[in-house]
Amino acid sequence: NSQLDLESLIVDIPDYPEPGVVFKDITPLLGDPQGLAAAVDRIAEHFKDAGVTKVVGAEARGFMVGAPVAYKLGAGFVPARKPGKLPREVVCETYALEYGTDELQIHADALTPDDVVLLVDDLVATGGTAVAQVKLVEKFGARMAGLGFLMELEFLHPREVIAQATDADMFSLVQVK
Ligand code: 5GP
Repeated sequence: NSQLDLESLIVDIPDYPEPGVVFKDITPLLGDPQGLAAAVDRIAEHFKDAGVTKVVGAEARGFMVGAPVAYKLGAGFVPARKPGKLPREVVCETYALEYGTDELQIHADALTPDDVVLLVDDLVATGGTAVAQVKLVEKFGARMAGLGFLMELEFLHPREVIAQATDADMFSLVQVK
């Protein structure tokens, strides 16, 4: 599992979802038994001594990676969702997209100031989605233990953007220069 090349299980899709964008399709990695296990194990291993009590993941790919990492760490999982999806009182954070804005919400009773949070997503590009979740976690007074990603698009410099929001440990399995 430590030898497995995860990058070979992530497929480039040119001009998706729009011309000029190369989308990184992680579904072959998720569908590969060894690939899924290696990805989850490596993220969990990196944060195993961080005292994580909750993993936060945003829909939909953040759920797929975040929930098994939470299970592996013995932590709970907290979904961050688009408006209108969670049935009870929520805490909200709006963030900028290339065109317009979007919003993520977490149930108002999902985190407490005693929680130590690991944010997990499949991929970090500009860092905007991750920063919105960091701000959500801060609204609860919970502590950020770190951020874990399968893939980091280094050429978009998400590390710098995230460092302005939190000094928590950011870890990625595959970096794209
Ligand atoms: P950011 O907010 O960092 O610009 O974008 C990251 C978010 O968009 C993540 O939630 C991620 O799932 C999604 N995303 C952006 N680009 C890609 C991509 O090429 N592949 C995948 N799988 N997700 C992407």
